[in-house]
Amino acid sequence: MFEIRERDAAGRIGRLETAHGTITTPTVLPVVNPGHQDLAPVDMTRLGAQAVITNSYIIHRTPRLRRTALEEGVHRLIGFPGPVMTDSGSFQMYEYGGRLDPLEIVAFQRDIGSDMGTILDVFSLDADRARAEREVAQTLERARDSVPLKGDMLLACTVQGGTYADLRRRCARALAGVEADLHPIGGVVPIMEQQRYGDLAAIVAAAKKGLPPHRPVHLFGAGHPLVFPLAVALGCDLFDSAAYAKYAQDGRLMLPEGTVRLAELEELPCACPVCSLHTAEELREMEPEERRAALARHNLHVTFAEMRRIREAIRGGWLWELVEQRARSHPRLLEALAVVQGEKRWLEQYEPVSKTRALLYTGRFSLHRPLIHRLHRRILERYAFSFDRTLVVDEEGKPFTRRHPEWARLRATVLVRGPLGLIPLELEDMYPVAQSVFPETLDGSSRRVADSFSRRLLRRAPPVVEEAPGDAEDFDLRKIRAVADVQFGPGAGEALFSGEMELVKSSTTGKIRNVYCDGRHVASLRAGDGLFTLKLAGGQRLHAALPPPRLRVVLHPDAVPFVAEGKSVFAKFVVDADPGLRPCDEVLVVDQQDGLVAVGQCRLNRQEMLAFDRGMAVKTREGSA
Ligand SMILES: [Zn+2]
Repeated sequence: MFEIRERDAAGRIGRLETAHGTITTPTVLPVVNPGHQDLAPVDMTRLGAQAVITNSYIIHRTPRLRRTALEEGVHRLIGFPGPVMTDSGSFQMYEYGGRLDPLEIVAFQRDIGSDMGTILDVFSLDADRARAEREVAQTLERARDSVPLKGDMLLACTVQGGTYADLRRRCARALAGVEADLHPIGGVVPIMEQQRYGDLAAIVAAAKKGLPPHRPVHLFGAGHPLVFPLAVALGCDLFDSAAYAKYAQDGRLMLPEGTVRLAELEELPCACPVCSLHTAEELREMEPEERRAALARHNLHVTFAEMRRIREAIRGGWLWELVEQRARSHPRLLEALAVVQGEKRWLEQYEPVSKTRALLYTGRFSLHRPLIHRLHRRILERYAFSFDRTLVVDEEGKPFTRRHPEWARLRATVLVRGPLGLIPLELEDMYPVAQSVFPETLDGSSRRVADSFSRRLLRRAPPVVEEAPGDAEDFDLRKIRAVADVQFGPGAGEALFSGEMELVKSSTTGKIRNVYCDGRHVASLRAGDGLFTLKLAGGQRLHAALPPPRLRVVLHPDAVPFVAEGKSVFAKFVVDADPGLRPCDEVLVVDQQDGLVAVGQCRLNRQEMLAFDRGMAVKTREGSA
């Protein structure tokens, strides 16, 4: 019922199917108070709401609401025809105490027709370790007991564990084994109220590491746009917001970078319909009820505008830029980025190999992005030095050889010193080497990342010399082999590009476009990101030279004939895959006997291919039939 359509960082644009319609994630579910509301839920649709959330506990304990909900359903009760999620009252139990039968409330949510119902988890926060452990055990037991009651309702099983990362992860792992449909991360509202965004990032990361990738993750109670970009980048798909109404009640306007008081504003710093039609003075002079509704509408406009921006950032490959820009709004968000920086090895698994937009430096966290971590790692592990001496030069513009064509003829491995560290000359066009923009001077933290990589590369490199003879002639071949090695792994360059070679270059840019070997089109070098697109002939060469599981996606026999004809590979037909594959890597699709079926580009990593039942795993380019 959930599939990934687009992705960036660990964030994804997904489609979540419910009985009352499909939700495009990430999105926010406005909280609807079942008893009273300033804004009619149907009006929220116009503001951008695709689904809403309401509290089944309040409905359950209020006889009038309970009766209507049971007779007419929760959609009629709150007046919203689209997908409705219900919460169970865990937070109310935590805040105000009280008793509630954990299974009765799940059955009640099912009976009132909730599309997504939530277990009554035990909310632990700032509890001592022993208590947090007990409460996780209790939450898990309730999750298991709730599954048989869910009926057609999607069941949300909440991850708890307080601020103990290992407990969160353990709870998430155990929930992976429960037949849940989505997973809220609970117990974080007080953390957000205290603006402990570093703790929040650590909790989300810990939970995500344990959860199966094919179930949507809901960050419970996160309703301020300030945290949306970061939480989405860490893999949260759903949010809910009571904040829009609470802040409106308080006379406060939410903005993407924080909150302001209407009382203190001379002008409205917003372009939403409410702020465009009124002045601050006019809003202040409204009747309280009217003002509350106007501010609530503004708050929802801002909330959904930020979500649209985030979804565009995912589509355009600039989510990390947005996260870093937004983090400048609050020092505590910068602390969260420091936590994210420590998670780059985990995040790298989800990061697409290439993007359509240049990588923009936005500050000291930019060089810690997973993509750069991967670039450095792939160069260290995969780049083969072609000469027995190394020459280090300073970058003076890109591509490197446009300014210094003589570098390409040197009989030495040329390493070009730039903001990303020492980059082998042959990789000058490869994403993100050519497609990145840095300021003239780098901050200290970024310099340390670049220097540390450069030192490690130099340790592997042949001896550094001051000058080298300039009579080498095979730069084009060295270049395509080096890119292939770094893109596909050691040995790929030689396997792909040998025999009778023909390079077809662009007549306008002079760059290599197509590579033919022994009369067959083996690969094309993409103009946008300087990476190879594999043709079937190239796939055959790599398949013969690289042992399984390298670059492989193994197909279920049922799908083989279709993929051989060029149909794409759906996740449910993937039996296994190379654990080293990352989204947007070129892959060899094989049958279970390792016969080559097709070449294509993967959309998911191995863990995702094996977990998802829906959606495309590999976009097939050329089948073998
Ligand atoms: Zn506004």
